[in-house]
Amino acid sequence: MTGERQAWLIRGAQPLGGEATDLLLVDGLIAAVGPGLTAPPGAQVLDATGLVALPGLVDLHAHLREPGREDAETVQTGSEAAALGGFTAVHAMANTDPVADTAGVVEQIWRLGRQAGLCDVRPVGAVTAGLDGSRLAELGAMADSAARVRVFSDDGRCVSDAVLMRRALEYVKAFDGVIAQHAQEPRLTEGAQVNEGEISGLLGLTGWPAVAEEAIIARDCLLAAHVGSALHVCHVSTAGSVEIIRWAKSKGWRVTAEVTPHHLLLTDELAASYDPVYKVNPPLRTQTDVDALRAGLADGTIDCVATDHAPHPMEDKETEWQAAAFGMTGLETALRVVHAAMVQTGLLDWAGVADRMSARPAAIGRLDGSGSLDGGGSLDGGSLDAGGAPLHGRPLEPGSPANLVLYDPAVTAAVDPAGHASRSRNSPFAGMMLPGQVVATFLRGTPTVLDGKLAR
Ligand SMILES: [Zn+2]
Ligand SMILES: [Zn+2]
Repeated sequence: MTGERQAWLIRGAQPLGGEATDLLLVDGLIAAVGPGLTAPPGAQVLDATGLVALPGLVDLHAHLREPGREDAETVQTGSEAAALGGFTAVHAMANTDPVADTAGVVEQIWRLGRQAGLCDVRPVGAVTAGLDGSRLAELGAMADSAARVRVFSDDGRCVSDAVLMRRALEYVKAFDGVIAQHAQEPRLTEGAQVNEGEISGLLGLTGWPAVAEEAIIARDCLLAAHVGSALHVCHVSTAGSVEIIRWAKSKGWRVTAEVTPHHLLLTDELAASYDPVYKVNPPLRTQTDVDALRAGLADGTIDCVATDHAPHPMEDKETEWQAAAFGMTGLETALRVVHAAMVQTGLLDWAGVADRMSARPAAIGRLDGSGSLDGGGSLDGGSLDAGGAPLHGRPLEPGSPANLVLYDPAVTAAVDPAGHASRSRNSPFAGMMLPGQVVATFLRGTPTVLDGKLAR
């Protein structure tokens, strides 16, 4: 965006984990891919021997907390965390204070993202005004705003009123939007603290039944089919939810879904520690659920990984379980967790990771150019679509925007939240040995991360 673009020659990287080759980045685009490329005059050279190159990651679901809870996170610190995690685009959920339910608020968040300049911050618009679940927010005005909102969600709360959900699904068809549902039947989860099952009984905490999630997903799939609109299911957490989504997709309905890194790796047995770092919405489930989520992500039933990065200040987490806030940070560990849960287990290769963490979430967020008239556009040298929105999730090929991450799969290290850029420290992976490290991230040809550290 600044105009001071450099050329970079990345030597010996392995695109999608394949054969080592060189990538030349010029003027924000991938100019060439192939072995033995020559560095043009003035180009900077980066030795990427042994590093996997992936297209820049896209997160459909993060809480950046600004405006309103800058003690937990800001768009700046959240963008830093995203870049360090290999992300080049992040969707910022609407449950801020004020709520992102008007053109003014989404434009404010979008501008803060541009000022930070480390990744494309895509505001999610609220479905209902004030997230109060009683009347629709200004969906059209947010879609038409400079922020060009395409994803709408009351995340944190469920749009439980079936009539409102139907109206929202109908409304967003006009601009090819999508409603992202936080599927939680409110009456079935009153006072719920942990997954309903053996562990909730053991701890004497109110259980959170799987059916509270599954019932809403089933209803919303039917509603989306009925009105011919697009539904996205946030943070799928149960085996039954995977089955319902598999069924809806078999019907050809426009239903997509995400799973979080923590639901791919952790189970409710961790809650037995009573450590609220493991308190999250939806709750950690059983190993059977984890296995079904992994299988669903592997076979494409679940389209993508989304972090649900939910930073909280220490005082809101380091308290007794029942009083603690729900949520975990995730931007800086997502790729490493997916590496452990999906790649090391043989369920996905790196091409699969690129699909589930870049191409598919970009398509769901309408960032892949498929919604624009010319199918990709050429404004700003090819890094924006015809409507001026940034392009993400494109293959690592000449002509694509130079959004990419270089990842070292060979290292293993303990997660240390003290070193994270996020303003909050509530990582459930703290102290856990995880594989891999993000070495570099490029946004439109400019490094945001080099040598594993912020580049500026
Ligand atoms: Zn949620
Ligand atoms: Zn969330």
